[in-house]
Amino acid sequence: MLKIDNLHAEIAGKEILKGLTLEVNAGEVHAIMGPNGAGKSTLSYVLGGRPGYEVTGGSVAFDGQDLLEMEPHERAAAGLFLGFQYPVEIPGVSNVQFLREALNAQRKSRDEEPLTGGEFLRVAKEKAGLLKLDMDMLKRNVNVGFSGGEKKRAEMVQMGILDPKFAVLDETDSGLDIDALRVVGDGINTIMRAEDKAVLLITHYQRLLEYVRPDFVHILSQGQIVKTGGPELALDLENEGYEKVMAA
Ligand code: ADP
Ligand code: MG
Ligand code: MG
Repeated sequence: MLKIDNLHAEIAGKEILKGLTLEVNAGEVHAIMGPNGAGKSTLSYVLGGRPGYEVTGGSVAFDGQDLLEMEPHERAAAGLFLGFQYPVEIPGVSNVQFLREALNAQRKSRDEEPLTGGEFLRVAKEKAGLLKLDMDMLKRNVNVGFSGGEKKRAEMVQMGILDPKFAVLDETDSGLDIDALRVVGDGINTIMRAEDKAVLLITHYQRLLEYVRPDFVHILSQGQIVKTGGPELALDLENEGYEKVMAA
């Protein structure tokens, strides 16, 4: 589903990704862990097509298409979802408005009819119910005044409504309490654990991986994947730290 080959990318003239290679198949959950500054968030931004991140080498294929040639909205329409470490706040726009716009933009690019307000609310209620989340939160402005945990809940509802094929989730290393971790974990398992979907989960937390058991764990260091293993690799990291595990 996603094939990253020898990817090089820079920001402000500084090379951050230095030959990153990674393949994710449908039905798989991959976790990426790594020290601060390794390039984890950069990888998610490059996959999303964020301006300012320049790809200087390598390739990324998504479902056989050249992802790097696609505009950010085309990537979303093709089924790519990105959750960010620092979600944006949008004063004056409710989650309901925002998500209906986002979903209808995707439907339009697939030549599907837009959902009416009523139709959209039914979808939103169903997804919120599935995730045991509060509809009232969706009526508030996007992320404005949300706690870290609430932003994560909102992100999971967003993911449920957009129903992507592939999710790249960059989790914060602070502000997620146990309840929020469980929300994220349940959200990923409910929405994304399927034969035709896949997840790239960027996390500092072995704890999150107790909720979402990854098929593969990769260590990203200095812009490259330096080690790949199963869930046990995350435990080794927790017990022994990056330096020791990377040297082993
Ligand atoms: P991680 O998410 O693994 O902690 P990042 O991808 O956020 O790492 O950052 C990788 C490196 O890129 C860091 O050295 C960081 O300082 C640098 N970097 C990130 N954003 C910018 C920017 N806008 N300008 C210059 N350097 C940046
Ligand atoms: Mg960081
Ligand atoms: Mg980061």
